[in-house]
Amino acid sequence: MVQLLDGKATALQIKEEIANEVRQLTAKGMRPPHLAAVIVGNDGASQTYVANKEKSSHEVGFTSSVYRFSENTTEEELLRSIEFLNNDPDIDGFIVQLPLPKHINEQHVINAISPDKDVDGFTPINIGRMVLGEDSYVPATPMGICTLLKRYNVETAGKHCVVLGRSNIVGTPIANLLSRKGFDCTVTICHSKTKNLAEITRQADILIAAIGKPEFVTADMAKEGAVLVDVGIHRIPDETKKSGYRIIGDVKHNEVDTKCSWVTPVPGGVGPLTIVSLMENTLKAYNRHQK
Ligand code: NAP
Repeated sequence: MVQLLDGKATALQIKEEIANEVRQLTAKGMRPPHLAAVIVGNDGASQTYVANKEKSSHEVGFTSSVYRFSENTTEEELLRSIEFLNNDPDIDGFIVQLPLPKHINEQHVINAISPDKDVDGFTPINIGRMVLGEDSYVPATPMGICTLLKRYNVETAGKHCVVLGRSNIVGTPIANLLSRKGFDCTVTICHSKTKNLAEITRQADILIAAIGKPEFVTADMAKEGAVLVDVGIHRIPDETKKSGYRIIGDVKHNEVDTKCSWVTPVPGGVGPLTIVSLMENTLKAYNRHQK
């Protein structure tokens, strides 16, 4: 029988834990943690992501701020603001919502973020620390996946984990984290040049789909009893919904789920854990800054 890795319920539980910790801090007269977000341009999905991060910040008792820049902001202007945020003692952590407009070099911007406030865990310093197994801010989506697997006591040691996708924010870090001591998976990373993809995914005890293609993973690609983590988020038009759209993932759930032992639903799986992991990183940054 397939069981749900319920991201929504787990995220609620973790939010409550964070909110309790924040209440204890403020009861002692301390200021709450502060998360800032930088957003450039008017991309609809980015606006939604930033709004959700702000909402979650307030739900756990953090304060938050959003720095909005127009689509034609220059890289220099953006870098100056990052410098400002790096030096503002009232900001514990901040994120720069990606993607940035084409004329801005994303890596230049990420590199300018102080590793100490890089709660998205995207700077080379934090990625390096993560790979070395040192204390770091782990990128939110892979961190959320690890939290789900741990909280549901999913057995990982010695399991073959196949990661579909090798992006810097999902595929590469989750492959690294699951191969490390503690999770002890044997990991295979697949990407757009991988040959005989289905042959490889069928060997997966744990299959992580982070490919960015709607319902790409079909039943013939999954092994009986596999643990299935669907990272994908795609909005597709749906007239039956009030919003006019619904969210689907990288997996064709109606045919794959029944083969699996555990699955993350979409929506309500990895997504809520991503936001909550950002909150956890912000609290961690706050606690470090108080020392
Ligand atoms: P991405 O940067 O577009 O990376 C996609 C990866 O999939 C790349 O490594 C690409 O290979 C690989 N790929 C593409 N087509 C393939 C194919 N036909 N066969 C094998 N591999 C293929 O995407 P991402 O940022 O990692 O995000 C992946 C998905 O997760 C998206 O749907 C995104 O919206 C979603 N997401 C969700 C959350 C969340 O909170 N739930 C957070 C982040 C992202 P190459 O490297 O060779 O190009």
